Amino acid sequence: MEFTPRCPICRSLAQGDANPYRPFCSERCQLVDLGGWTTERYRIPGPSVGDGAEDDGDATEDGSQ
Ligand SMILES: [Zn+2]
Repeated sequence: MEFTPRCPICRSLAQGDANPYRPFCSERCQLVDLGGWTTERYRIPGPSVGDGAEDDGDATEDGSQ
C-alpha cells in the first residue's frame, strides 16, 4: 500500500520525494495556502455607516459646483 499525498489546494498529487513544498504540489499552492486566508480576511468589507454617507454628500456638492 502506497501513500500518495494530495495537494490541499488544487487536489492534485503532491508526489516527489524531493518536493520541498509538501504536502503542496508546488510553491504556488503553498503561497496560496499561506496568503489565501490573510488576503481573504483583509478583503472582508467592514460596515462603514456614517462615514460613507458623509463622504458621498461632500463629493456630490463639490462636483456640482
Ligand atoms: Zn497544488
